[in-house]
Amino acid sequence: MRPLVAHIRLNHLRDNFLALKQMHGGGKMLAVVKANAYGHGAVRCAQALADMADGFAVACISEAVQLREAGIQLPIVMLEGVFAAEEYALADRYQLWPVVGNLWQLETLLAHDWQKPVTVWLKMDSGMHRTGFFPHDYAPAYQALAQSDKVADVVKITHFACADEPMKTMTAEQIHAFEMVCANLPGEVSLANSAAMMAYPQTQCGWGRAGLALYGISPMGGTDSRFKPVMRLVSKVFGERVLQMGEPIGYGASFVTNRSTRVGLVACGYADGYPRRAATGTPVAINGVRSNVLGRVSMDMMTVQLDDHRQLLGSEVELWGDVVNVNEVAAAAGTIAYELLCNVKRAEMVYE
Ligand SMILES: *Cc1c(COP(=O)(O)O)cnc(C)c1O
Repeated sequence: MRPLVAHIRLNHLRDNFLALKQMHGGGKMLAVVKANAYGHGAVRCAQALADMADGFAVACISEAVQLREAGIQLPIVMLEGVFAAEEYALADRYQLWPVVGNLWQLETLLAHDWQKPVTVWLKMDSGMHRTGFFPHDYAPAYQALAQSDKVADVVKITHFACADEPMKTMTAEQIHAFEMVCANLPGEVSLANSAAMMAYPQTQCGWGRAGLALYGISPMGGTDSRFKPVMRLVSKVFGERVLQMGEPIGYGASFVTNRSTRVGLVACGYADGYPRRAATGTPVAINGVRSNVLGRVSMDMMTVQLDDHRQLLGSEVELWGDVVNVNEVAAAAGTIAYELLCNVKRAEMVYE
């Protein structure tokens, strides 16, 4: 069998949850398991957190229903809300909590014939300008929901654009805009993503929404010893050769050896989600020892630098995990860890 394996350490996931919960001042916290739990497997991750999380967050109704069908009973927030009015019937049946972020979602929710009153998360656009009601439209939207007997509770939610860049003033401005409007509106609030939990203790009130850091990766980049990487993506050296000086490797012949070089062929490529933009020099770890990519990443395989003096055929190659942080690979590829984790495919998922 092809040796590409994503080891998912569920004990790390649990430890990260508890570490984040503490950073969040012990407040309520959603485990964000959208996009198949950032590539880690939504059902398995939700099951592993079911006795400690206060609820889960997903993007959309199909992700929420998948968790319910797997037996998850905690609250589930749909962060994008619904895309068609019929979805509210499923939200009703499965007791899901939709985000309402625009007038159409609000009006169709209030027009729906609910069997049970629904808990709504009403989104404010405090400055990110993607979704949510503008501050001056927020209180009327809140009142329309709060006054309806179809609505059980309204939780006030907003999202930060720059919480991972604490040098910028934007997060403080967003918090201020949110607080100004919400001061006179009763009920719970939800502000913090992972980065805000780490950098903005004033967001500790209400429901935290922990995503990337839950998977052990710092949204600030680099390595943060408070978190334990959950995914360890590994493969093997399945070919080995020594090339003389001046020999090209791979597509485009973009890399040429500048000395006699021992090269390993690794079963992992961009069809597995490894970024093709990761150029020569991107770190990998061979039997736990750091090395690097040589030449271009192909669809199904890539080439790496081996120790000149050792035969390493069959050796384990960590693409990211404990020795190589996925943030390093993301930086080398000009992207973010979120994208790399979500993109993992064709790897055998092993839960441990
Ligand atoms: C994805 C998402 C989160 C989680 O963000 P992280 O940076 O991964 O912690 C929180 N809130 C909303 C609205 C999101 O879409």
